[in-house]
Amino acid sequence: MDKFRQWQQQHGISFPMAWSKVVFADECWECEYCDDLICPVCEDHYAECDHIGPTEDNVIYHEDNNGIMWGKRSPESLISTNHNTII
Ligand SMILES: [Zn+2]
Ligand SMILES: [Zn+2]
Repeated sequence: MDKFRQWQQQHGISFPMAWSKVVFADECWECEYCDDLICPVCEDHYAECDHIGPTEDNVIYHEDNNGIMWGKRSPESLISTNHNTII
């Protein structure tokens, strides 16, 4: 939990509704239980979570004045994301 807060503070995250901060693999840390990477936003496995990585299809990217990358999924990709979550 501490790492999560630290990470938020480092990036000044306020989590806007529509845009989410792009999560880079080098910002993740290793899972305590396996060797997978943990997403700093949701603290779940990076490969399995829905957070936006730097090179995804159907994502609109925006870099703000602080050099922070934000991403927003297009409507089609939201539909397929929800579908995956149900499975
Ligand atoms: Zn794990
Ligand atoms: Zn995540």
